[in-house]
Amino acid sequence: MSRRKKLYEGKAKILYEGPEPGTLVQYFKDDATAFNAQKKATLEGKGVLNNRISEYIMLGLGRIGIPTHFIKRLNMREQLVRQVEIIPLEVVVRNVAAGSISKRLGIEEGEQLPRSIVEYYFKKDELGDPMVSEEHITAFNWASTQEIDDMMAMALRINDYLSGVFSAAGIRLVDFKLEFGRYYEGDMVRTVLADEISPDSCRLWDMDSNEKMDKDRFRQDLGNVTEAYAEVAKRLGIMKESGQAPANDEGK
Ligand code: 5GP
Repeated sequence: MSRRKKLYEGKAKILYEGPEPGTLVQYFKDDATAFNAQKKATLEGKGVLNNRISEYIMLGLGRIGIPTHFIKRLNMREQLVRQVEIIPLEVVVRNVAAGSISKRLGIEEGEQLPRSIVEYYFKKDELGDPMVSEEHITAFNWASTQEIDDMMAMALRINDYLSGVFSAAGIRLVDFKLEFGRYYEGDMVRTVLADEISPDSCRLWDMDSNEKMDKDRFRQDLGNVTEAYAEVAKRLGIMKESGQAPANDEGK
């Protein structure tokens, strides 16, 4: 296992060659970065929590018919995923104003948006992931119009589903970021959800207190970051408050 070939190392995850062709092992690190990696820290246990939360969400999305790269969780920090060609876009869905939309458009944080808004950002660290339009996406061939349609439809469906899942756990889904990939099956290509969905990539607020339960705790130095992630996991019924797997977990 330790001799596996590392294919890519990102800020919060590592991708290794998988056991079979067309598969990868996605490893969740404890590292956290913000503001285009200008702020860095190691948050003990974050990777374990994100692995579990993302698994839970990907499985739920699979059940409602969203194609994802997820195959199965392997252990505390790793999951087996399908190898895809990542579309170089971040797809952000917003329900409530926060973060960059508040700053850019002067909308007060916490204001309910008139409807859910989908935005695209070009994945390019050197440029700080600039927001782009469908015109840019098709003109520069980052994705086809069909892929944009697929991503938009899936993003809205995912938003509906996740808003319900989190709401049942007393959590407001403010916004989140998705990444998609091209999955090649013979001469067919399918757009599938990739990467992760976790408190690193979502804004999650407690429904009663509006307390932040996501990566903004790290970005804004609010403290208790992993504790907040563990609370999300606990409310979803995945893990106990301590961040430990439930007693009936297979010990992986
Ligand atoms: P904003 O554009 O307001 O900074 O972010 C919108 C949402 O997308 C937030 O939930 C934020 O966490 C997520 N997001 C945006 N860019 C990134 C990114 O590069 N990495 C991660 N993990 N999440 C991001």
